[in-house]
Amino acid sequence: MRQSTLFLSTLRDAPSDAEVISHKLMLRAGFIRQLAAGIYTYLPLGWRVLRKIEQIVREEMDRAGAQELLMPALQPAEFWKESGRYSVYGPELIRLKDRHDREFALGPTHEEVITTLVKNEISSYRRLPVTLYQIQTKFRDERRPRFGLLRGREFLMKDAYSFDATWEGLDQSYWNMYEAYRRIFDRCNINFRAVEADAGAIGGEGGTHEFMVLADIGEDTIATCSHCDYAANLEKAQSASVKITSTEVKADKLEKIHTPGVRTIGQLTKHLQTEPQDIIKTLIYVADDRPLAVVIRGDHEVNEIKLKNYLEAENIELADAQSSAASTGVPVGFIGPVGIEIPILVDTAVGQMQSGIAGANETDYHFRNVVPGRDFTVERTGDFRNAIEGEACSRCSEGVLQFFKGIEVGHVFKLGTKYSETLGARYLDASGREQTMIMGCYGIGVSRILSAIVEQSHDERGIIWAPAIAPYHVHIIPVSIKDESQTRIAEELYDRLRNHGLEVLIDDRDERPGVKFNDSDLIGIPFRIVVGKHAESGKVEYIERKNNEKQVMTVDDVFSRIFEEVRLSS
Ligand code: ATP
Ligand code: MG
Repeated sequence: MRQSTLFLSTLRDAPSDAEVISHKLMLRAGFIRQLAAGIYTYLPLGWRVLRKIEQIVREEMDRAGAQELLMPALQPAEFWKESGRYSVYGPELIRLKDRHDREFALGPTHEEVITTLVKNEISSYRRLPVTLYQIQTKFRDERRPRFGLLRGREFLMKDAYSFDATWEGLDQSYWNMYEAYRRIFDRCNINFRAVEADAGAIGGEGGTHEFMVLADIGEDTIATCSHCDYAANLEKAQSASVKITSTEVKADKLEKIHTPGVRTIGQLTKHLQTEPQDIIKTLIYVADDRPLAVVIRGDHEVNEIKLKNYLEAENIELADAQSSAASTGVPVGFIGPVGIEIPILVDTAVGQMQSGIAGANETDYHFRNVVPGRDFTVERTGDFRNAIEGEACSRCSEGVLQFFKGIEVGHVFKLGTKYSETLGARYLDASGREQTMIMGCYGIGVSRILSAIVEQSHDERGIIWAPAIAPYHVHIIPVSIKDESQTRIAEELYDRLRNHGLEVLIDDRDERPGVKFNDSDLIGIPFRIVVGKHAESGKVEYIERKNNEKQVMTVDDVFSRIFEEVRLSS
């Protein structure tokens, strides 16, 4: 490609609303342009990278035995009503009407469509298992579209769905996809972790994994063990429970203490000269309209996902001050587990405390020497809190948990019979009995990967693409297009490399060398050939973008070097 004709304009500065580096760089390097919040045009360079990522995804899905198809983005609302999601999906679902006033939605995901399709096409166990996938534009009216392609409202996703006759079959389909994902992210040169994630009520142990790109701007926190290979999203991560050495109650009897105006953990620890871990904190939640108290240690945070799963609730919410006071009769700050009249859930760590300080359910009073099990019941107990960095790993107990920020780029999920049940996707088994198909779903944020890679791979000058996904393999820069020998060598190399199947961009613009070099750094093509002052002696500069080191070599050498590098990396 000749840069003089390439539809590209680089920017010196990024627009001020671009907050993260990947967004800034992709705008500056001319890979994307915004049309509206969360809606982007992929310019030629960006589109080339996207297609390469897409191709890697496609090759690995095909290799894993999945079959590609393409479903409509425009979906009649009736399918969503049938699955029950039309009402619960909320405003993220883009709804519209056709000229006959019939309701439609723009697909944010395709469980409804695929399950209905497979239900109509397959009726016998003989045609199972099957895994189908598509690479398609998805629509989600995200509350906060941001960070460029990382959270778009229109974005490219690969979504796959597996249909099995048995649960063992689902297991196989699931791990098959898991392995394909590993290969995909490896080939994209991404530093990633596969982490256990919350599977909600279905899925069970190992029922879902997220593939996370490690990056400081990531919205998810992941906990990994320093010793074993345990890795989990914080929403699910568990630390090893502390062993209690003695169950003998050493605490004295309950003592009521006057704590006027002392409402927060901070105020309480100051007032009583103690530490947050000595405090038993009580929070009021509303789970599907019913109030309950959650009792955790003062230095811990409630994990609402764990709570929700334990309760098998549709909805849980921290009660506001008003409804909390209404359901307990006590103002916030003085609520405690002793004598409270609503159901209480006790976090394991509280169950292991010998004694603690808690609200006395009376304005301006707390209790000292509160002993779990003695002064309040510890019947409904479990892990209801976030793990903390540095705590012992729950799997091996030898390592400690380390925390990282991650961007979710992929997700594998055991759906079970959630959709096949409601949408009636059944088959006849070998003995002619009707059974429900067992499903899995597997998503990859193809366009999100683009941003995630840039987030991980850049320097102060611009983007650094790995050869496997770079928009072009080689960037040839004749320093002056007015110099005949420079132009001749550059053009010869351009033809030769292309004739050998490499993708080459040649900067044939009549621009100052500084401009060309800056643009080249910004765009981030992995191998660069600068044809400059050594041209007359048949030599050029070879530069790798990843470290910007220069080597002067002959035209033949540079050709073989680059050819070899690209061959090795693909
Ligand atoms: P998130 O928690 O980031 O909103 P999600 O759980 O809604 O993601 P899935 O429904 O599992 O995501 O979608 C599959 C994949 O699609 C995700 O792993 C992610 O890579 C990508 N994805 C989801 N939402 C967006 C978005 N708004 N923009 C770009 N990619 C997205
Ligand atoms: Mg989402």
